[in-house]
Amino acid sequence: MMQVLPIQSCATTKEGQSPGKLIVLTGPSGVGKGTLMRSLLQRHPELYYSVSVTTRSPRPGEINGKNYYFISRRKFEQLVAQGQFLEWAEFAGNYYGTPREAVLNQVLSGKLVVLEIELEGARQIRTSFPSALSIFILPPSFEELEKRIRGRGQDSEEAIARRLCRAKVEIKAADEFDVQIVNNDFETALNAIEAALFK
Ligand code: 5GP
Repeated sequence: MMQVLPIQSCATTKEGQSPGKLIVLTGPSGVGKGTLMRSLLQRHPELYYSVSVTTRSPRPGEINGKNYYFISRRKFEQLVAQGQFLEWAEFAGNYYGTPREAVLNQVLSGKLVVLEIELEGARQIRTSFPSALSIFILPPSFEELEKRIRGRGQDSEEAIARRLCRAKVEIKAADEFDVQIVNNDFETALNAIEAALFK
């Protein structure tokens, strides 16, 4: 069991400063979370985006330290054993995890910290940080999701099958989240995320 730090107490860390908060953004692979995230960060540079650690290979154009920290499975398992992750999970055959220290430091300094993570990780965050705001992004339909994943042309047939299978499980869990947003029209979805964050 990972150590739980007293995020709630951050309200008193600096006088007059509002407390930080964890925002969890989840949704099936291919739903457009990444694109929504990028636009959200452009519009709100005050948000802190947590760069995850993964054992997945970089896709073309992905940059180490920007999109992810790409590391080996052995190294990832060492970091797990050292308690370095706030949450972690295996997804479609690879490990993904949120670096603990960087995120907690940002929350404690009053930032809104956004984690773009899958379902198991979101559940871990909900257990450890009940005050986190959780948002689930839904596709307009499963057929549309499959079209988007295939359209990316970035994954092998096997990876696509695993992601689609996992997507069904994740979509069923959408009701567990505080807010559900359908990414049919990009601008509408982005506005809905902003409304949830800054209401
Ligand atoms: P992808 O390989 O497409 O970049 O990501 C696969 C899935 O892993 C996505 O649903 C993404 O949100 C999720 N993910 C990315 N980083 C993390 C993380 O740090 N923790 C968890 N639990 N999931 C993550």
